[in-house]
Amino acid sequence: MSYAVKEIFYTLQGEGANTGRPAVFCRFAGCNLWSGHEPDRATAVCRFCDTDFVGIDGAGGGGVVSPRPRHSRRPSRPPGRRAKPRRASSCAPAANRCCSSTRRSSNRCTRKASRSPIETNGTQPGLDGIDWVCVSPKAGAELVLRQGNELKLIYPQAGIDPESLQALPFTHFFLQPMDGPDRLRNTQLAVQYCLEHPRWRLSLQTHKLLGIP
Ligand code: SF4
Repeated sequence: MSYAVKEIFYTLQGEGANTGRPAVFCRFAGCNLWSGHEPDRATAVCRFCDTDFVGIDGAGGGGVVSPRPRHSRRPSRPPGRRAKPRRASSCAPAANRCCSSTRRSSNRCTRKASRSPIETNGTQPGLDGIDWVCVSPKAGAELVLRQGNELKLIYPQAGIDPESLQALPFTHFFLQPMDGPDRLRNTQLAVQYCLEHPRWRLSLQTHKLLGIP
């Protein structure tokens, strides 16, 4: 089996439950909810994407890759040498992009503590060998993967009420303000929702605040 990968880079996880944790991000190419081309955005199922997942030519180094045993994986560049700053995507899509765009990030603090997380839009079934599942539902797309470690909802999304998700078997529930021209208002709405519904915690895109990839 092989995967089309946009790029692989070593950085800190910027969002959600693993914020601040060193991670190797493997951002898959393609998504099943948007072509990635701007002229198609207005008609896409998912229209707020902040990730370039088109092609396999990312600055962090992409290509068609085959999985290797976990013990033989290495970051594409050593800690301390950053890839050219790029935005980290909010989720990962299609074939269960374990990495990005649905990005699949392989968090690794030490070899002993290394994990294989995936972030996905949840429209595909889960994969074997994944030990941390972050699902980021998208309005207008059927949620197939309905359990995991972390549910991260970009907020607000017309057509998704957080209340409709909070009974699902996830350990962590995050609201993350939708970026874009309404970011400040969306942040206020997310803060207010978390205050009124303590089951939910606020997730911020700290990599954007810090200017890291
Ligand atoms: S599902 Fe994720 S990767 Fe796909 S368009 Fe939406 S935000 Fe981007």
